[in-house]
Amino acid sequence: MVLVPLVLQLATLFCVAKLENEAEMLLLESIRAKKISDAINVLSQDVYDYIGEFGRDNPQRQVKTGDEKLQVFHRRHELHYKQLKDSVQHDAKLYACVVASEQAAYKTFGLIRRLEEIPEDGPDQVQKLRKKLWKDVRKDVKSILGGGLLEHAAQQKRIAEVDAEEQARLRELSRQLMILIAIIDTIIAIAVALYLTKTIARRLSILNENSLRLAASVPLHSPLGGNDEIATVDKTFHNMALSLQEAAKKERAIIDNARDFICSIDANGKFSAANPASQAVLDRSAESLLGTYFADYVADGRENVLQIFSDLRTQGDRNPVELKMKRADGTIVHVLLSAHFSKEENTTFCVIHDITERRKAEMLKQEVMAMVTHDLRTPLSTLRHIFTFLESGKHGKLDDKGTDFVHAGGRNVDRLLTLVNDLLDVEKADSGQLHLEKTKVALNECFDACVSSLGVFAESKGVTLDFIETDLIVMGDEERIDRILNNLVGNAVKFSPEGGKVIISADKSAERDTEYAIISVKDEGQGIPEDKLENIFEKFHQVERRSDSNQEKGSGLGLAICRAFVQLHGGKIWAESKLAEGSVFKFTIPLA
Ligand code: ADP
Repeated sequence: MVLVPLVLQLATLFCVAKLENEAEMLLLESIRAKKISDAINVLSQDVYDYIGEFGRDNPQRQVKTGDEKLQVFHRRHELHYKQLKDSVQHDAKLYACVVASEQAAYKTFGLIRRLEEIPEDGPDQVQKLRKKLWKDVRKDVKSILGGGLLEHAAQQKRIAEVDAEEQARLRELSRQLMILIAIIDTIIAIAVALYLTKTIARRLSILNENSLRLAASVPLHSPLGGNDEIATVDKTFHNMALSLQEAAKKERAIIDNARDFICSIDANGKFSAANPASQAVLDRSAESLLGTYFADYVADGRENVLQIFSDLRTQGDRNPVELKMKRADGTIVHVLLSAHFSKEENTTFCVIHDITERRKAEMLKQEVMAMVTHDLRTPLSTLRHIFTFLESGKHGKLDDKGTDFVHAGGRNVDRLLTLVNDLLDVEKADSGQLHLEKTKVALNECFDACVSSLGVFAESKGVTLDFIETDLIVMGDEERIDRILNNLVGNAVKFSPEGGKVIISADKSAERDTEYAIISVKDEGQGIPEDKLENIFEKFHQVERRSDSNQEKGSGLGLAICRAFVQLHGGKIWAESKLAEGSVFKFTIPLA
């Protein structure tokens, strides 16, 4: 569009330059023609003067040799002819005419010079010769201007006049051309400006409208054609809108298929949106909930919920809370409510997770635990006492077989009691019911007690059990520290080969502002694979043993209990091991 006026302007410039050039040529031509015509005129004027002076019909006057006027004439003629010849060089015809005139002039001058040499008052014969010469002079003088020189002068004059007119015409033409193009250019420029403004404004308004349509979820205008910047922006916008729609669709699918009840609550505490999971959680359809108050479905702690929503407005987020809600069939559902308040939308977004099953399972577990405590531990303890009495022989002597049975029974009851106690401890630790009774504990005494109680077991396995003396005193629950040590040392002996060595030791360490004792139990057993070093502290986690191994299978609870006890003391527990070289179990307890 911009190229059209530009091309027009260039074409005009070219035409005007051409016209100007032609006019210039005509000007030069006209100047030259005028010069030639003037030169011939001057020449003819001189010739007439010359004839007037020297070529009268009956001249009685003697032309004097070296006459001043004559000399001047001669010189002027010479000069005039030279100039004339210079200016007519381009025109061969004219040039020949000038040369002929010049020759005629010199011939005449030659005659006059001869006349100068003949005396005026000589004999008749001489006078006759003079007369004849004068006759020749008059005849030749005419031929100077003959040969068409005067016609040429008139012709050059005409040329000069015509060229001047043509020049004026060309100049006028170029002026008109310039005005015409200026007008056309202006019209085109205005038209182009109007067109561009109109199309750009229209396309921009479509872009703008598209953004509003996107916000209002209304289909967009079809993409703008072309490949200019606006079309590119529009294309990108369409792609973006498509991606957004896709993302929204996926999000919608996730929300619709979620098992959790996801909803939004408006500023008045009413449901403004809900997903289909409302049916499963509250036994109510999402549509039936819209516009109703959230608090109306809370079974317990209605005020608490209102408080939570009002707190959310200032805090934005808060930890999930447990609630009881009413289902349509009148039953109660336990839920975990996570909520987030959005200031921009003045809406609270909630995720409600049904934990009824979890609650039921927990209650069941508690019931089982209660049953284990009362209905299993008490009879087992009684059984243990009975075996102890039987072993003591106070109630009669048993034969060897009977003694073996009683021993075996006692050992099995012991294992059962340990398992029940371990289970109870793990459960208590998990539910936060374990409490420590902290006192100053001398580690040396704990080590000593542990070696004494497990010495027999170690000996039976051919394992050397020992400890390195220490004067470190920790702040902790002695009974629990003993349990940790017994578990770790028991494992160390259990997994040591015959002839192996188990050493208990303690070191001092500091972390941040607290000083700790690091207690280590080192064995020379088969070791633990690296990828299991973390897992063995999980409940019921055991490393696979070879089937031919004759180790007694444990419960997998020992290390889990150790970890729970150590953590209660604010310490850490970990294991370091090299396969076939042995393991070191370490835990920390704050120093007193
Ligand atoms: P349990 O000994 O009753 O199986 P633990 O929780 O005490 O349960 O131990 C878990 C597992 O960790 C054990 O089964 C054993 O595979 C591994 N383990 C524990 N201590 C040692 C040790 N000193 N050397 C080799 N493996 C060990």
